[in-house]
Parts: sequence; C-alpha cells; structure tokens
Amino acid sequence: MKPSPITPTVPFDQDGVHHGFLRLPYSRDDSAWGSVMIPITVIRNGDGPTALLTGANHGDEYEGPVALMDLAATLTPAEVTGRVVIVPALNYPAFRAGTRTSPIDKGNMNRSFPGAPDGTVTQKIADYFQRVLVPMADVVLDFHSGGKTLDFLPFAAVHVLEDKKQEAACVAAMKAFNAPWSMMMLEIDAVGMFDTAVEAQGKVFVTTELGGGGTATARTIGIARKGVRNLLMHAGILTGEAETGPTVMLDMPDGDCFHFAEGDGLIEPMADLGDAVTQGQSLARIWPPDRTGVLPMTVIAKRAGLLTARHFPGLVKSGDCVAVIAVEVR
Ligand SMILES: [Zn+2]
Repeated sequence: MKPSPITPTVPFDQDGVHHGFLRLPYSRDDSAWGSVMIPITVIRNGDGPTALLTGANHGDEYEGPVALMDLAATLTPAEVTGRVVIVPALNYPAFRAGTRTSPIDKGNMNRSFPGAPDGTVTQKIADYFQRVLVPMADVVLDFHSGGKTLDFLPFAAVHVLEDKKQEAACVAAMKAFNAPWSMMMLEIDAVGMFDTAVEAQGKVFVTTELGGGGTATARTIGIARKGVRNLLMHAGILTGEAETGPTVMLDMPDGDCFHFAEGDGLIEPMADLGDAVTQGQSLARIWPPDRTGVLPMTVIAKRAGLLTARHFPGLVKSGDCVAVIAVEVR
C-alpha cells in the first residue's frame, strides 16, 4: 500500500510535551499548495503503555474536543508513564465547519475506515489512524455525543466482541471511565466505523455518547474530563486517585431498541431522557406540519426500558431516529 500523505510535525518517541499538527496536503482554490492542519499533542515519559484519545470524529460533538484541549494544555510528563496521544478533532474539517461530516468531501469519518492513502481527505485521515496511530496504542478512547440531531443520556460504551478476553478488558476500561451510565452498545451499521477498526486490531476501546444537540454542558464536559483521567489511571499511564461514583449498566439487546419516524412533521416528545418507559407506551407524536385538523402519528415503544436517546430538533423527517430504549442490567 502507498505511504500516507500525512506528515506529523511532532515526534512520537521523544520524552516531553509536543504540540503540533498532522499535516495533510490539500490543494484547493484558496490555497494552491495548502494543507489541512490537524492539531495533535504527544506527551511521553519513558516506556509504558500508549493511549490514543480522539474527539470530534463527528464535527458537531463537543465534550471530547473541550476535555481533550484541556488535557493537552495541562497534562505534564511528570504525571505520565508511557505515552498519551491527543487528537481533539479527528475529522478536523468537519469540526471547523461545525458539521457532522466533512465540508470537503461529505465524508462521515465513522463510516470511512479503514480509509485509503489515495482517497478523499476523510479517507486519508482514516488511513493514517488505521495504519499509524492505532497500531501504536494499547487503549483508544473516542468521544462522541449526539451532534445536532440527537441527544443522549451521558454514557460510556463498549461493544460485544468475539474475543471475550478483549471484551472484558474493554468493559473494565468503560467502568473505569465511570460515566453515570455504561452501555453495551449495539450499532445500527458497524461497517467502516473507527470503533470496528480499532477493535479488529485487538485494542482496548471505549467510546461515549455524552449529550448532544450540537452543544455541550458543564455537566457533560465534567463527565468527559473526569472520565479521560480515570481511564488513563486505569491504563497505568497516569498516577493519582480515580474519582468514581455509581454507574448504571445498560444493554441494547436487539434492533427493537431503535425507533424511527415513518413520516415528516413536528415532533411532540411524550417521554424525556432517563424516563422509564413500558412496552406499548407513546414515546412521541409526529404532527403533520402543513395543516390543522389532522391527528398525529404516534411512535410506540417496542420494548420496556430507559429512554436513552431522542431526536433533538423540533422537526423530524421520515427515517430519522426518534428514540432509543436501553435496558438496565442489574
Ligand atoms: Zn458521533
């Protein structure tokens, strides 16, 4: 395979704090020999495990970028054993545009793995992580939240894996992150995901869904900031006392967790995030937006559980994910 066109401006194997960029050549109308400059920080202190920490895999999700900018600016080598690689905005063009996907090629980073060194900008970034950064890592934490169109109960998550030893290591890392909720997550569409690519390389992988609506709150940023430090302590990279509280274990047993709109309209939520719902209960009503005197469609809960995600904007389109119900595991 061709080498990656990305050049890092920081060393990966020198002790100390190194702030710089992953420079990806991108020739365009306003910059003939221009580049995409993806911020990166590498903090290393001797031999030890490596953590790769990423945010803004989707450009409109903000807890990760805030917590990782903070960590990159404040973490010192003296606190570290091994190496921490911090990329606050994985899909940097999307992050700068405030959009889920890249404005350059419409690439959804989390559907672009393993990427390609001679592909689009998004595919080139994916390829660099696939072949250079992920292989260096022992543990990978990738922050997500709902973006502009979804809102979540704040949870850390891992997937059911074929390798049960790897799955147990991921679950232990998720519990160490210690979000208020911890999820065994089912994906609608796992092909091309960063998660799947990292797990296939045998790494310990934790992801999150910490909120949404295209913003972040003091509470959800606090969860991210605490969680990343806890995870680094769990990995043996950071010294100090982990800050832990209770976490509620959740599971998504099958596709009945997901509820989709079957028409366009004005959404009326009938339950809020964190509410316990029963099978057959109305989760939302969708009013026709263009006339009066017509009754709304009703979105019915296909299972009992906890309302874990909801559509965020007030208008929905047919096919939009309206609600996700997860089941509490005791
Ligand atoms: Zn996301």
